[in-house]
Amino acid sequence: MMYKVHTHIRSPNYEARYPDTTIDFLIMHYTACDLEASLKILTDPNARHRVSAHYLVDETGEVYALVDEEFRSWHAGKSAWRDLADMNSRSVGIEIVNPGQGPNYRPFPPLQMESVASLSKEIITRWRMAPHHVLGHSDIAPGRKVDPGPLFDWKWLAGHGVGVYPDIQKNQERQSREWKGQERKSEKEPLPLDKRKEKQLDIIRIQHLLARYGYTVPLSGILDPQTRAVIEAFQMHFWPESILEKFRLMGCRSVKETLESKSLYVDGGSRERQHPFSLSLEDEGILDGETSAGLIRRLESLIDSLDNQPCANL
Ligand SMILES: [Zn+2]
Repeated sequence: MMYKVHTHIRSPNYEARYPDTTIDFLIMHYTACDLEASLKILTDPNARHRVSAHYLVDETGEVYALVDEEFRSWHAGKSAWRDLADMNSRSVGIEIVNPGQGPNYRPFPPLQMESVASLSKEIITRWRMAPHHVLGHSDIAPGRKVDPGPLFDWKWLAGHGVGVYPDIQKNQERQSREWKGQERKSEKEPLPLDKRKEKQLDIIRIQHLLARYGYTVPLSGILDPQTRAVIEAFQMHFWPESILEKFRLMGCRSVKETLESKSLYVDGGSRERQHPFSLSLEDEGILDGETSAGLIRRLESLIDSLDNQPCANL
């Protein structure tokens, strides 16, 4: 074991898992406060909403084992993936100390990520979890939760054997081969579509792909609030640079600076929903072509990797 585990602080906030539950998901969170406050919140038996997690990982990389994995800890709340609605029952939850999205949001330090990776690998092996069952809180509760956010390095984690990340290169090569095949087959050019129609088709396609991968998204054909929230959750996990790049283009030199720029906060509503990264979609609620194409490419790559798993546990 590469990391230090503290077992002297335990959380009373847990219960028995329901009988015959499979433990097959690993859920990542950030605490949005420092170590001391995190420990207090995750172990408080008197809170109005009692919460906990199986593990807490400090920025130093030290791990606090708060609840045994055999028990159902209370970290996910109202959440869903595919047709599974009770994620607390079938998951192990890791809380990671980080100030959270807001003025002090910052990258997760290497020591902390090393511990998250080592700890995760043990959990995944122990419960034989499928790689695509390693998810963020925002993936299973889009619109309600935004943790662990776009600075959490999912790509690095996947490179270290935890979770999956889209392989754009590989997917592009396959697609270009398919397109060439299609060109040979069709003699006529397809009719040019009216722009609006084209966008609507993109939205429908994106919704279907998101749903196929596991997200809870309506197949409405419009960019309703839930669809926007799910697209945002997807971007934070699988394409964070699409969100961060827009901030750079807006003249912000760093993420920290971007987050400190007050003008990005929209007045009214809860802070959690209207965090600054919401700006990745155009104001009118229409996806731009580049974002649509990027989303589709990444989703297809992920779904490909899912289909190619010999024993994909859907
Ligand atoms: Zn969370």
